[in-house]
Amino acid sequence: MKCKRCRKAAAAVDLPSHHSAFCPECFFVFFRRQVEEGIRKFRLFSPDDRVLVCVSGGKDSLVLWDILMELGYRTEGLHIDLGIEGYSARSREKTLAYASSRGKEPIVVDLHAEGVPIPEAAKRARKEECSVCGTVKRYFFNRVAAERGFTVVATGHNLDDEAARLLGNLLHWDADHLSRQHPLLPEAAEGLVRKVKPLWRVSEMETAAYGFLKGIDYVTEECPMSEDATSLIYKEALTLIEEEMPGTRRRFYQGFLDPKNRDVPGNPVADACREDASKDGKDIGEGGTPRKCNSCGAPTYAETCSFCRLKERVTKPQGRS
Ligand code: SF4
Ligand SMILES: [Zn+2]
Ligand SMILES: [Zn+2]
Repeated sequence: MKCKRCRKAAAAVDLPSHHSAFCPECFFVFFRRQVEEGIRKFRLFSPDDRVLVCVSGGKDSLVLWDILMELGYRTEGLHIDLGIEGYSARSREKTLAYASSRGKEPIVVDLHAEGVPIPEAAKRARKEECSVCGTVKRYFFNRVAAERGFTVVATGHNLDDEAARLLGNLLHWDADHLSRQHPLLPEAAEGLVRKVKPLWRVSEMETAAYGFLKGIDYVTEECPMSEDATSLIYKEALTLIEEEMPGTRRRFYQGFLDPKNRDVPGNPVADACREDASKDGKDIGEGGTPRKCNSCGAPTYAETCSFCRLKERVTKPQGRS
């Protein structure tokens, strides 16, 4: 099959959801345009912004960093070493190797050194690893951005991630989460930087194809803590529908973001989305004015922020509860 754009080279990437197939060069053009459109549509950031890209070492985040550099944005990478035996060392290695191939050196936060490696912190706090991980990552995204003058934090969530999350939120009519599901979460308070997802228009397959064709070497294994089978089920359900009706996933998520669908009176999704979309985590968003954490100075509504509370539980001598 010939590329549908240049009509000369052989097609290397088949995109049924776009009724297209591209050679590598034309696929890069397609991919770049999708990301540019994703940034433009919601004004995620501008060339004046300093973008902190969260790079785990997986394909999505490395592709995100790659394309943003290619588009000429001012970016630096932030890698959080989660302290998970084996997996974290391999993820860090891939991140550093990629960065050095592009003449970059990422900012690294080592959770062992910070006293909160995820497996141990979760055990001591008696919480799920992913919940602890979420608290810790959010905290360092904001802290590093605030300390080093970044205006925006970017993560590598793609269309499949966001559509699966939307399906889950809708199945549970989770108004709170629906109200916060968007490629752009504005700065909520001083020290709570803007969060963006520039890959929201490209699918997992397109991201993987871009990474492969660009020769980006990423960590392929899943995080061993990942036991969130439900999000995989939502992804599989959408893949099943997508195979029968290409383009459905994209219409589903883009329809959710379309302002005209949000203005349907009585639509519970619309109502949820009209709420303050700038809530960011449990510390912020409960109303009122944020104050500074007694311990670290981060914005919070409680006396102490959730990270410091977690750290206190983790570092407290065991035996006392
Ligand atoms: S699977 Fe859970 S612990 Fe692992 S990186 Fe994701 S959120 Fe963190
Ligand atoms: Zn072509
Ligand atoms: Zn704190």
